[in-house]
Amino acid sequence: MPPSYSLSQLNTFALEVKAQQLIHIDELSQLTQLLPITEPMLVLGGGSNMLFTEDYQGLILHNRLLGIEITADDDFHYLSVAGGENWHDLVMHCAELGIGGLENLALIPGTVGAAPVQNIGAYGVELADVCQAVHAYCLSSGEFHHFDLAQCQFAYRDSLFKRQRDYFISRVLLKLPKNWQPQLSYGELKQWAAKLAYQPSPLDVAKQVISVRQDKLPDPKQIPNVGSFFKNPIVDKAQAQQLLQQYDDMPQYVTSQGVKLAAGWLIDKLGLKGFAIGGAAVHQRQALVLINANHACADDVVLLAQHVREQVAKHFGVNLEPEVNFINEQGYSNLHDALKSLNRGSNHV
Ligand SMILES: Cc1cc2nc3c(=O)[nH]c(=O)nc-3n(C[C@H](O)[C@H](O)[C@H](O)COP(=O)(O)OP(=O)(O)OC[C@H]3O[C@@H](n4cnc5c(N)ncnc54)[C@H](O)[C@@H]3O)c2cc1C
Repeated sequence: MPPSYSLSQLNTFALEVKAQQLIHIDELSQLTQLLPITEPMLVLGGGSNMLFTEDYQGLILHNRLLGIEITADDDFHYLSVAGGENWHDLVMHCAELGIGGLENLALIPGTVGAAPVQNIGAYGVELADVCQAVHAYCLSSGEFHHFDLAQCQFAYRDSLFKRQRDYFISRVLLKLPKNWQPQLSYGELKQWAAKLAYQPSPLDVAKQVISVRQDKLPDPKQIPNVGSFFKNPIVDKAQAQQLLQQYDDMPQYVTSQGVKLAAGWLIDKLGLKGFAIGGAAVHQRQALVLINANHACADDVVLLAQHVREQVAKHFGVNLEPEVNFINEQGYSNLHDALKSLNRGSNHV
């Protein structure tokens, strides 16, 4: 049977793609009734980190679980949030209540349930900094699990849930200190805060983050995209030093895993802003974002991503890894496989 459920409204790259089956999950009890699942399956939130390179020949579980509970003790606010809640709305809800801790993560699209998967992060804060635990349903065993912070294995754009794909995250528990201090170490926020004569509130910071992001990131509703297409690469100290000798203006950040480079800077340095293949292009203002500029098909995006990757490797000797999830007809794939199937002339969307 040909795939018949349109996902064009469920992926922010706006690719005209279909799935064999789609079930909206509004109640947790729906999950327990699904087992055993015998076909390929994947969990979908807002589709803001997905690149469907082919129609998907499996079952999509679309998370729409709703509900927010907020409690507190003397020192902390505790949030228990259902996975289908909108992440940005949650951030603004907290900021408006004067609860700090999430404001740097304002305007990140998608759902709360997806936030732990790649440990979302922006402006010096990651989900790992505020996450207390994750509740998930295992779609292969039919068991509910409680993962504490350590068990989530959070790292840069990574977690246990990115490696074990059979969990459906139903609820995320967040712990936010009452003696909140704004995190303003990131360049643009630092400059803004330096000019303030008062300590900003969570809402002030959230509004500033929104303003900075709106200045440089395209709104997927107007210009379809999946945010940062590539992760910021991490290189060893020797390579970082060598690159700095060649490019003394290259931004570098020392982390526990090595020296992090700014992927957007590398792409920009090669003059690739605005470069297009078919309907896909590198965004004019933010080189790390690939956009669906004009009815792009998946092949356009795959070829563009490969071109950017090749150029960066050729000029800087640095490998860029996609941050976005590539999905082919069977499920999770990668840029390499997408190129192979493109060369075979498979039926791309
Ligand atoms: C304009 C723009 C800006 C962005 N900025 C940032 C940023 O600053 N920082 C950042 O980290 N990301 C950013 N992103 C990426 C994206 O918003 C995040 O990765 C977000 O968490 C994805 O949420 P989603 O609900 O759309 O997930 P989807 O794209 O639907 O899914 C992403 C992955 O999570 C899995 N998943 C989703 N829901 C669940 C669940 N309930 N249980 C288990 N697995 C699940 C999916 O299977 C998939 O593997 C940006 C994207 C866009 C379009």
